[in-house]
Amino acid sequence: MKRVPFLSLDPLHEQLRDEMLSAFERFYDSGRYILADQVAAFEQAYAEFSGTRFCVGVGSGLDAIRLSLEALGIGEGDEVIVPSNTFFATWLAVTRTGAELVPVEPDPRTANIDPARIADAVGRRTRAVIPVHLHGRPCEMDAVMSVADGHGIAVIEDNAQAHGATYRGRPTGSFGRINATSFYPTKILGALGDAGAVTTDDEELAEEVRALRSYGSRAKDRFETFGFNSRLDEVQAALLAVKLAHVEQTIEDRRRSAGWYREELEGLDDLHLPDPDPDATHANHLFVVRTSRRDALQRHLAECGIETMIHYPVPPHLQPAYRELGFERGRFPIAEELAETSLSLPFFVGISREQVGRVADQINEFFTLAAGTSRK
Ligand SMILES: *Cc1c(COP(=O)(O)O)cnc(C)c1O
Repeated sequence: MKRVPFLSLDPLHEQLRDEMLSAFERFYDSGRYILADQVAAFEQAYAEFSGTRFCVGVGSGLDAIRLSLEALGIGEGDEVIVPSNTFFATWLAVTRTGAELVPVEPDPRTANIDPARIADAVGRRTRAVIPVHLHGRPCEMDAVMSVADGHGIAVIEDNAQAHGATYRGRPTGSFGRINATSFYPTKILGALGDAGAVTTDDEELAEEVRALRSYGSRAKDRFETFGFNSRLDEVQAALLAVKLAHVEQTIEDRRRSAGWYREELEGLDDLHLPDPDPDATHANHLFVVRTSRRDALQRHLAECGIETMIHYPVPPHLQPAYRELGFERGRFPIAEELAETSLSLPFFVGISREQVGRVADQINEFFTLAAGTSRK
């Protein structure tokens, strides 16, 4: 029985091997390892890719969100709206600034923040909303922007999962006042270590993040605020530049694999595939299906050597770290239901038609064998 891994970076890294090693050699020979030519070149290329005037490379996606909030002057006494069903880091970045979280439920159909509910959650102290393009699917940005503009609050996109996605022809990561992304190795555009960036059209905000990533210093030996040490590494920038040059191909490959899953899995009663969105191009960070029999399906696949994951099994409001906020089970029922029914199938650049077929065959078998469930 041949295993199907949930994720393998091998096919992409094998394909890019020579270019990545030459980039490493250039970095190695440059003798300059912090905030030099590689970072500057990558920032310029990524800004262009994002359709924004500026990109500032930072140490991680978490820091990209946190520094965006800090650059906007958000902190104690302020409120920030976040999705109830996101990765923990979106919430943590807000908590770290001292601001209060205001979680908002997603539209169950898209798993993305529900623009109508954002309007209901805005209060006197609300300063910003952080839409997350979950799994690579763009949020309904026209609606999000119009609610935010109408209430005078800032939008900070969390674009960690959606490199290369577009909403009505415009790249995600270009809508908000300032936007954050992660280049964690398993993201669509992934470094070989930790890395992140902010993108913005606002020069003053870009300068503020540049200062904050480097102790709060805008000029040598002058420290104006209490910043951080969160710089994008030269070596990661050099490697990311290689991957960025190939990212369109990467996204195309993902689109094709998602299409294979759709073809093979359409029409099963208790299996919900990601809804197509005519207004957007999905970046396909993950291929997430939903079923009321999620745990049994995951067990069945595991027995067949097929590795799956759950993004995410426990929503942030039920995490021990947030116990003191007093959110009980049942408080964000849509987030909880998504956590109980979502399953991420094996999905990566270079997954073969045959591997997708093997996964789909086992899923079809699981639902066909199940009493009371059959193909439509
Ligand atoms: C990965 C991720 C982050 C955090 O990025 P790191 O680089 O790991 O700090 C934040 N938000 C979302 C939605 C993510 O998927």
